[in-house]
Amino acid sequence: MQPVMKSAKLANVCYDIRGPVLARARQMEEEGHRIIKLNIGNPAPFGFVAPEEIIQDVILNLPEASGYSDSKGLFAARKAIMHYTQEKNIPGVQVEDIYIGNGVSELIVMAMNALLDAGDEVLVPAPDYPLWTAAVSLSGGTATHYMCDEGAGWQPDLDDIRSKINSRTRAIVIINPNNPTGALYPAELLKEIVEIARQHQLIIYADEIYDKVLYDGATHTSIASLAGDVLCITFNGLSKNYRAAGFRAGWLVVSGEKRHAQDYIEGLNMLASMRLCANVPAQFGIQTALGGYQSINDLVAPGGRLCRQRDLAWRMLNDMPGVSCVKPQAAMYLFPRLDPQMYPIDDDQRFILELLEQERVLLVQGSGFNWPTPDHFRVVFLPNVDDLTEALGRVARFLDGYRKR
Ligand code: PLP
Repeated sequence: MQPVMKSAKLANVCYDIRGPVLARARQMEEEGHRIIKLNIGNPAPFGFVAPEEIIQDVILNLPEASGYSDSKGLFAARKAIMHYTQEKNIPGVQVEDIYIGNGVSELIVMAMNALLDAGDEVLVPAPDYPLWTAAVSLSGGTATHYMCDEGAGWQPDLDDIRSKINSRTRAIVIINPNNPTGALYPAELLKEIVEIARQHQLIIYADEIYDKVLYDGATHTSIASLAGDVLCITFNGLSKNYRAAGFRAGWLVVSGEKRHAQDYIEGLNMLASMRLCANVPAQFGIQTALGGYQSINDLVAPGGRLCRQRDLAWRMLNDMPGVSCVKPQAAMYLFPRLDPQMYPIDDDQRFILELLEQERVLLVQGSGFNWPTPDHFRVVFLPNVDDLTEALGRVARFLDGYRKR
């Protein structure tokens, strides 16, 4: 019999956060080992549950949620999202500019599928949340990575962005706040990115799913609020700000220069229609979430659980010889650097696998985020202080052994 092969479309599609290292961790768990997992940004298993009022609203509305909704989503939920765009100073958003999806993930793939033809290029940050690179590839485009500068707090390198634009470049992706670096971009930098997009007629795709997970009193600026004359597609959802990742509720907002984008918008409408609609019960949680008590603020405030975990993990990493880590201003990740002189790593996946085998701690290698050199890894700081201390203690012990090899 002929072997059944996967589609050639998948040749350059990669999503290492749930890749071979996770498969090995699962196998080890089946063998009875306890693995401390610092690998996935899924808040609920670590005790960060969705606010009760959201859960209650979903339950209350369940009897009304058996049918399909409008393909773009429930009107009341989209209206609440529209009000949220007004709070964020994004100009000119109407209810019809809003599409609700089964998480931001579905909408990222939809937005890229609606846009790209073979040979089209999209500027994607390095490091990135790898779904962006994967979605561009799956849609037949090419992800061109622009560098974020670790020495400058992981801000995008504007010269690198400019140098990578050519006649095939269609769009630029901005992940702000950033996964995996925890960087938050200031308005001045965002304005410069908008100017680049304006000059080169690029669409801005803004992934802002962590826009409320901010530390040290920081505030978030939506790039779309600075780009009234540039086509902007902004993504957000319930997964992180409201710790409801399993609900699968996200949205996409079209703003800015829409007049010349009617054909693209038709494409988005078609793809939204083809999948009928997003999970309806979860849509009933959106209005309550956006209008309700923002309990995320308690978690990120000084002394709040997330803030304490960030501080602990950041300090412990920087105390390890040859490890340096930019302090995250937002989100739930750290992306430390290993000094290549002290840790001469050829293959960072193998390195992370060895850590797993020896110390039963699960991390994700930097290359999983399209980082070009094997000298970084990502830490999720969702586990409680005891588990983080235990896990990072084991990482320190592993690195100690690695240096002495
Ligand atoms: N965008 C970023 C930057 C993320 O980190 C994640 C999940 O980790 C997503 C999108 C996916 O979000 P959702 O759960 O809404 O699909």
